[in-house]
Amino acid sequence: MGALVEVRDLAKRYGAVAALDGVSLDVSEGEWVSVMGPSGSGKSTLLHLIAGLEAPTSGSVRVAGTDLGGLDPEALAEFRASRVGLVFQRFHMIPYLTVLENVMVAQYLHSAADAREARAALDRVGLADRAGHLPSELSGGERQRACIARALVNHPALLLADEPTGNLDEENENRVVDLLRELRAEGRTILLVTHDPDIGRLAGRRVVLSHGRLLSAHAARETDEEYADEILESLWKDDEAGAPRGVPAHVPDAPGTLARTRGTLDQLAHEGLIERGEGGFRLLAKGRGRARGLVRRHRLAEKLFLENFHVDRDAMQASACEMEHILSPEVTDSICTFLRHPESCPHGKPIPPGRCCPRYVPEPAGEEPRGLRPSGRNPARS
Ligand code: ADP
Repeated sequence: MGALVEVRDLAKRYGAVAALDGVSLDVSEGEWVSVMGPSGSGKSTLLHLIAGLEAPTSGSVRVAGTDLGGLDPEALAEFRASRVGLVFQRFHMIPYLTVLENVMVAQYLHSAADAREARAALDRVGLADRAGHLPSELSGGERQRACIARALVNHPALLLADEPTGNLDEENENRVVDLLRELRAEGRTILLVTHDPDIGRLAGRRVVLSHGRLLSAHAARETDEEYADEILESLWKDDEAGAPRGVPAHVPDAPGTLARTRGTLDQLAHEGLIERGEGGFRLLAKGRGRARGLVRRHRLAEKLFLENFHVDRDAMQASACEMEHILSPEVTDSICTFLRHPESCPHGKPIPPGRCCPRYVPEPAGEEPRGLRPSGRNPARS
């Protein structure tokens, strides 16, 4: 299948700021691509340019063969209404119209408003009973789902979503993720901006922006998110070994490690994944959920490579380090099932069980990791 989205040498300047600086990217039909990168790296700008909401300073965007640079404002509006579904937090719904009417306005811009279809779109996101409410009467998560219904009502070829799970509670996040998975299964093309590595991993491909440029696949591996993952995993292993709390013991070597580690620890604390206690840092429930998933993926990959592919230990290590960052929940559970839900890795360390495992026991209330993640109990605490 050909590329639905073709981005070539795209640049966007705001005065002296180069928000995008020569980005080229193809997205195939039916592909789900996550756009990741730190705040201010140009992710939203890229989505806005692909949606034709803003014009680039230079370079081009083609969607389904149409060069957006050649369209006048009216044709651009028509392009958006017919081809693209936008899930952008800053696109609020019209406050004095009901949720149903808001969805119908989007439909009207495309063709004719049809209350039955609009209701079906709301039903799909679990909001059928909220159709008659005003946006202000919905929770944040419900509003986000209403925006997805609005984006879906015209059956767009391309769904552009900017942090669709940002600021959502666990239940709403899981609903949105389930919806995205359904849409992918239907063959929709999804381009999704996220800073959450677990959401990013759900995509078939991740691209990383840094200072307005796309990192090469190699450079992208050493992203800040993955460095944060290493730290979470390291704290988990310290817990498992009964090590005293402190700065994690096994943080990998990297240039400028000390400053980078401090910055990442502060960021993780800010996101509620770890907290600084008396003796040092400790994992909070959310961080433990993410670390558990990483350790599970790493140890399952070790077992798979060493015992089934018979690679040597160095190759096993390298592959496992890579796999822990890229395996999706489905693939992780498939590997676990293929290996018959092993309890320990080749080094004899416990493999946290996931929801596919007969021995899986959910964490007590409040400790449950987010459902989309491969999960299991912290053996050090059980
Ligand atoms: P991200 O989505 O990765 O956080 P953005 O695409 O929002 O990044 O922003 C990239 C850079 O461009 C930032 O430095 C931001 O301040 C700047 N920028 C984005 N939009 C505008 C705008 N409308 N006017 C001026 N600067 C902007």
